[in-house]
Amino acid sequence: MLIKLFIHYTFHFVVPIFIARPFFKDNWLNAYLLMLATLLIDLDHLLASPIFDPNRCSIGYHPLHTVYAAFFYLLLYFIPSWKWKAVAIGCLWHLSTDYIDCLL
Ligand SMILES: [Zn+2]
Repeated sequence: MLIKLFIHYTFHFVVPIFIARPFFKDNWLNAYLLMLATLLIDLDHLLASPIFDPNRCSIGYHPLHTVYAAFFYLLLYFIPSWKWKAVAIGCLWHLSTDYIDCLL
């Protein structure tokens, strides 16, 4: 359980640094902060009851954690601006991290 939490938060907060450094070069720090800001998609948990359920898989359950949302995040990637690419990668990485959590 503790190892699962460790993996989850490392993937949410630390791994994006290693994505931002090579892909966003000079803008890596701002790209990293934008990727952290994508944690805000977890606000959709407020629509659910209970708000947090450790045995529930977020993916496919919460509106911003669905396949449709993922498709939308993918579209954002094609906006010709590194900021939107950072947001898109951040959201997709977020969904991947939550999904890994469901598998563990
Ligand atoms: Zn989430």
